[in-house]
Amino acid sequence: MEKDLGREIMEMRECYRNGNTKPMSWRRSQLQALRSFLQDYEVPIFRALNLDLGKHYVEAFRDEVGLLKKSVNLALNDLKRWMTSTGAKLPIIALLSSAELVPEPLGLVLVISPWNFPLGLSLEPLIGAIAAGNAVVLKPSELAPACSSLLANTLPKYLDNQAIKVFEGGPAVGQQLLQQKWDKIFFTGSAKVGRIVMSEAAKNLTPVTLELGEKCPAVLDSLSWSFDKEVAIKRIIGAKYGSCAGQACISIDYVLVEKSFSSTVVDMMKAMIKTMYGDNPRESHSVARIINKHHFLRLKNLITDPNVKDCIVFGGSMDEDNLYIEPTILVNPPLESAIMTEEIFGPLLPIITLDKIEDSIDFIKKRPKPLAVYAFTKNEDLRKRMVSETSSGSVVFNDAIVQFAADTIPFGGIGESGMGKYHGKFTFDTFTHYKAVARRSFFTDFWYRFPPWNNHKLELLEDSYNFDYFGLLLVILGLKRSRKTFHVN
Ligand code: NAD
Repeated sequence: MEKDLGREIMEMRECYRNGNTKPMSWRRSQLQALRSFLQDYEVPIFRALNLDLGKHYVEAFRDEVGLLKKSVNLALNDLKRWMTSTGAKLPIIALLSSAELVPEPLGLVLVISPWNFPLGLSLEPLIGAIAAGNAVVLKPSELAPACSSLLANTLPKYLDNQAIKVFEGGPAVGQQLLQQKWDKIFFTGSAKVGRIVMSEAAKNLTPVTLELGEKCPAVLDSLSWSFDKEVAIKRIIGAKYGSCAGQACISIDYVLVEKSFSSTVVDMMKAMIKTMYGDNPRESHSVARIINKHHFLRLKNLITDPNVKDCIVFGGSMDEDNLYIEPTILVNPPLESAIMTEEIFGPLLPIITLDKIEDSIDFIKKRPKPLAVYAFTKNEDLRKRMVSETSSGSVVFNDAIVQFAADTIPFGGIGESGMGKYHGKFTFDTFTHYKAVARRSFFTDFWYRFPPWNNHKLELLEDSYNFDYFGLLLVILGLKRSRKTFHVN
């Protein structure tokens, strides 16, 4: 296996070196093929997502297939513009010159994806990597086997197999891939494996993008209008339980509210869960399932912890055979318990009460930087402080998760939640090197650029860095001075 993998990757590198992936025509044909795959295989994709995660096909379309179609269309529409060099100015000292930023592909890149959005998080980076003209190896997660085998068995029917390959497998295959030399590794997954990826990449000085997780807080201000409260609760419940049952990196991990508002919040959340999932959410087709027994038991342990279980105010029922966990709400689990120190990644929602909503800023600042901070508030001062005083991949006011669907703003983490960014043109940039190309005429030079040195040349050099051409002309004509004569003994 190792030998074959190494050989295949060598052949892919050769294919890249031959320039096969660089022409716009190749990139366009691959993106069009990817679009056809999404069209032709829409129903099998829905089935695979349902088999792996119990996702409803509407949720699957909203969060994965629909977004991918949007992304591939954007890449096809904007490809020419993205591939065009942009002009830049050089300093005056480089008289009669021009410069440009020439986008060039990075080369042979590796994309490693997780199980929770197994199609979306595999193909979204793939779209940008292809648009940027790279050869790509994709390793989907072994924990979503139906989606992984769908990608491995069908993508080769659509894409150029010499330049784009899918390698299936778990950590062992991941490790074998990390032993190879890449020009970029784009990894989505846990911080634990992210650290392994980064240390393996360091051996070859390979750049990495790490799309990781963390605990994303939602600050819920005591909104005075009942309409605003209702909207906020709907968006919180929809984001928490309605996107892969909380198994999403940008899911709301916990909610911060003022003490006096918490019982209202709990009552409204209970009612909203009923509205969305009925009296018995277990029977609802709109509740995704936990990916596997390991994660089921991990989540079970979080709420059966003796210090936590009495904090459950809603839900808490489980069915191990069906990997089902009821949408669950807890109030004030101990801050040092696992549910409040580890990323929850499931349908459990702790509510933490504070004396004043402004205390939420300190609460967030004391913890690792999250992928997203959500705040439901009309308080402009709080909004400003949230943006300027907390640090996170993104900040969203009055909603959650919607930022993932945007291709106009970058998506990515900071600190423990990752590094690098993508979506829309940012994905193209992530897989592109902007080569600086500068050009000068042989015609003439400023005399003061070259030795022998004297103080007048020092003054003119400083003026060149401080003024535009007109200012510099005034200096040369003696009509302007920028600094006093300078003597070094
Ligand atoms: P994971 O880190 O366990 O696995 C991710 C991928 O890495 C899988 O393909 C897996 O096979 C591979 N892998 C595992 N061990 C490896 C090793 N030793 N060497 C090489 N490859 C290895 O993550 P997961 O459980 O699939 O996903 C959950 C995590 O991903 C959560 O922390 C979540 O927050 C994060 N996540 C982040 C984003 C984001 O966009 N920032 C999106 C989804 C999930």
